[in-house]
Amino acid sequence: MIREYLDGILLYRFEGVREGEGVEHAILTRVGGVSQGAYATLNLSRSVGDDLAAVEENHRRALGALGIEPGQTVSPHQVHGARVEVVGRAHRGTLRSATDALVTVEAGVPLLMRFGDCTPVLFVDLERRAMGIAHAGWRGVVAGSVPATVEVMTRQLGCERTDLWAGIGPTIGPCCYEVGPEVAAAVQSACPVGVDVVRHIDGRMHLDLPAAVGAQLRAAGVERVEDSRLCTACRVDEFFSHRAERGRTGRFGIVMELLK
Ligand SMILES: [Zn+2]
Repeated sequence: MIREYLDGILLYRFEGVREGEGVEHAILTRVGGVSQGAYATLNLSRSVGDDLAAVEENHRRALGALGIEPGQTVSPHQVHGARVEVVGRAHRGTLRSATDALVTVEAGVPLLMRFGDCTPVLFVDLERRAMGIAHAGWRGVVAGSVPATVEVMTRQLGCERTDLWAGIGPTIGPCCYEVGPEVAAAVQSACPVGVDVVRHIDGRMHLDLPAAVGAQLRAAGVERVEDSRLCTACRVDEFFSHRAERGRTGRFGIVMELLK
């Protein structure tokens, strides 16, 4: 992962998507904003109890650093499902209802999604010039948001599975994600046979979400997968973590845009 500051905003980028390839992407952090307390500082969620004026200023700063006008982004209302929406220029400045993945083949359509433990999965196909972001917490893995995104990109956007690259962004890691037997069983059964996504640590079950998402990607035919290996709960200095901060926290952003 490439870690850098841009106009005071700390962000990460994947090695697999390089500058000059026509795709802008940024994994924002919690560093560089104006929010206070539990939301300090770069919270991008309007629905977690943070001061809305601070959230607007955070959007202005973070998107401004990336050269994006805040009013032009497309975002979904994420509901832990598997609905994938194909968006374009006509959708700029809108909030898509009940959607957990956005994909596009149009340049100049910045996608913005928000995370705070659930797994962000970024998709790029440089041949077809397509990209997208999926949201996959344990419910999303069970619902199949990641394979659903691959299906839409191949069937509707014309991507070849072998051309797809996927990046697994910062998410709660197996080190910090203790779960009960029902959740463990549900996620395990949503993964390919032979892939174990439950770790036993000190006699307790921990879920390995990045492993589950990676297994779903490979089962869907995506071989080029880059894992950020960043645990949100281990790294609350840089990321928001719903689990580590007991529900009172913000959300960091993932931004992607195809450039002209
Ligand atoms: Zn951890």
